[in-house]
Amino acid sequence: MSMSFLPEDMNWICRPCGVKLQPSTVELSYLGSVFSVELPACPQCGAVLISEELATGRMLQVEQLLEDK
Ligand SMILES: [Zn+2]
Repeated sequence: MSMSFLPEDMNWICRPCGVKLQPSTVELSYLGSVFSVELPACPQCGAVLISEELATGRMLQVEQLLEDK
């Protein structure tokens, strides 16, 4: 299962580095399942940025998907 957590504009800046975040695929473990998710990440320091609102909304969708199985 893979999903995207990328914000629509992608104009996010890593504040310490001052560089634009780029889409990066990471593996996330949640509720015993592993998901490939796309997150905005800093190419310089590797910091991954995830909006809490976005994460909460998507994770609720994931929980619903798991329950439907
Ligand atoms: Zn950075």
